[in-house]
Amino acid sequence: MPHLYAIAIGSNRPHGAHGRPAGVVQAAIAELDCRFSLFEASPLLLNPASGGAGRDFANAVAILESPLEPPAMLAALKAVERAFGRRPCRRWGPRVLDLDILAWDGGRWSDRQLTIPHAALETRAFMLLPLSHIAPFWRLRGALTARQLAARLGKRRARP
Ligand code: AMP
Repeated sequence: MPHLYAIAIGSNRPHGAHGRPAGVVQAAIAELDCRFSLFEASPLLLNPASGGAGRDFANAVAILESPLEPPAMLAALKAVERAFGRRPCRRWGPRVLDLDILAWDGGRWSDRQLTIPHAALETRAFMLLPLSHIAPFWRLRGALTARQLAARLGKRRARP
């Protein structure tokens, strides 16, 4: 049986062929479409570096269908990251491409390598907002949907 996955796509480093992070994320969406059945991709969320300092960030979320179980899906996503030239072992360094599993239709998953839903999903607007845009009614925690969790995050961020 195929599964549905929500995948976060992020870049904060330019790529020789695809250019700035927005181009990298667009190319990654095209690559995921080649390797999987891509249902939908969110609009890009851009956080351009200002004044020439710092780095551009680009993020999006895609909904995929695949027969793979989560560990095999993680391995497949790492292969895509490698194809885009991400260097392993530099966890918090600049990234050509970062792919994370946000959620899948099998509910919770937890092992040594993987936590699904993604442990930071509820606190990272760049993951939650694009997901709630394309899958507002996806239940992520109990009965709570992506849209409800995004609204809750928005309120928390608005508080002084
Ligand atoms: P990062 O480099 O920050 O994307 O972390 C990648 C590592 O986080 C992977 O090698 C996984 O073992 C681990 N991980 C835990 N949960 C997830 C998840 N939901 N999606 C992707 N990676 C995960």
